[in-house]
Amino acid sequence: MLFLFDIDGTLLHGMPPAHRMALCDAAEEIYGVKPLPRHLGKTAGLTDSVIARRMLLDAGVPPEEIVPGLHAFYAAAADAYERHVPSDLCPYYTPHVVETLEWLREQGALLALVTGNIERIAWRKLAAAGLDAYFLFGAFGDEAESRDELPPKAVRRAEQRFERAFSRDAVYVVGDTPADIACGVNSQLRTIAVATGPEHSLAELSNCHPDFALHDLGELSSLPLFGEASADMSANTRAG
Ligand SMILES: [Mg+2]
Repeated sequence: MLFLFDIDGTLLHGMPPAHRMALCDAAEEIYGVKPLPRHLGKTAGLTDSVIARRMLLDAGVPPEEIVPGLHAFYAAAADAYERHVPSDLCPYYTPHVVETLEWLREQGALLALVTGNIERIAWRKLAAAGLDAYFLFGAFGDEAESRDELPPKAVRRAEQRFERAFSRDAVYVVGDTPADIACGVNSQLRTIAVATGPEHSLAELSNCHPDFALHDLGELSSLPLFGEASADMSANTRAG
């Protein structure tokens, strides 16, 4: 069983705006424009690539100048995040996050990331929260604009790393927005929605038809996940 976790609103919530400040700093450093963190608008469920493009267009950067600078922009944003990130993000845990990750690990689940965060920001954020060691690898927001492209990348990495196939119904995408549910569904994976993000209620998420919709991660351990899982793990070992 493989779980692909979103970060913002799913593992951590209510954080100070260090990530937004980092994107704004990078916009100034690489493109010479000065967007303000409060001008970034709603960002839940979006990849940093999409947020960056929208922010830069709004700030007047010509479209043809955006792409050539993106690589440097992501690096500058990660450096800026290093400056802004609070030393301790543990106060921003979503309810029951640590015991749920511990419980999943005890069940033999593999944990990885599918997040819109720029990769270096994702790992730095999780390190500041003491959660990085739970996750083996991931797919990140600087790898694609569309979130839909991320779960297949993560599954491919899992298959390479463990040298076996993962049955699509043994992979869960866990996240706090309709975009998380959609990226799982569009990849024929299973989905778990948690209503701990800033923008989407449990009712709203339920309307997107995830396999499960939860108030918070604490409810995950009561789901009927692992009866099937152990059978699945042995049944899907890739021959040769
Ligand atoms: Mg999220």
